[in-house]
Amino acid sequence: MATGKLIVISGPSGTGKTSICNELLKRLPHARWSVSCTTRPMRPGDVDGQTYHFVDPDEFLKLKDRGEFLETAEYLGHLYGTPLGPARQALAQGENIILEIEVQGGKQVADKLPESIRIFVLPPTMETLKARLAGRKTESEQQQVKRLAEADGEIGFARDSGCYQHFVTNDDLNTTVKEILDIISLSQ
Ligand code: 5GP
Repeated sequence: MATGKLIVISGPSGTGKTSICNELLKRLPHARWSVSCTTRPMRPGDVDGQTYHFVDPDEFLKLKDRGEFLETAEYLGHLYGTPLGPARQALAQGENIILEIEVQGGKQVADKLPESIRIFVLPPTMETLKARLAGRKTESEQQQVKRLAEADGEIGFARDSGCYQHFVTNDDLNTTVKEILDIISLSQ
């Protein structure tokens, strides 16, 4: 059986990464979502075990010490990590696994698994990003300001680190998803 592809989707908060990943899950054959662990509090719409595994910092650090993560990162004061076991198992079963992770994690995946496909999603403009973050109403105004400030750094890191092979601007969801599906099918 052929090994599946590991696909990393990164991009600043509010670029539409989650909508893109949801479409990819519907449209890419044998695609599976990697459920991350996080120490951040649950938000409206979160389902434990589906959007994330919500764990406390002690538990997270224990898992990390036991080598159970493919990558980990701290983002705005909270820890995030991709469980290694399910990703490894999915790939061995020929499934394509989708990781929606931030750039520090993207860099670790690039170093450990250079054969992975790493795509960075850009907003059309910073103004659009600001409007999208405000529109989704899941974070306080203060958190939105932090996420917006973080966005600049993430875009800079994504460009300078060289760990993303592809940059896609998400203006229209359907067009973006098609572009990403083409990138995936052309990658060996
Ligand atoms: P949120 O708190 O909005 O769900 O996620 C914040 C950021 O953490 C987003 O950029 C998201 O892609 C990223 N993220 C989610 N899970 C992981 C993970 O397992 N590892 C890393 N490195 N980043 C993650």
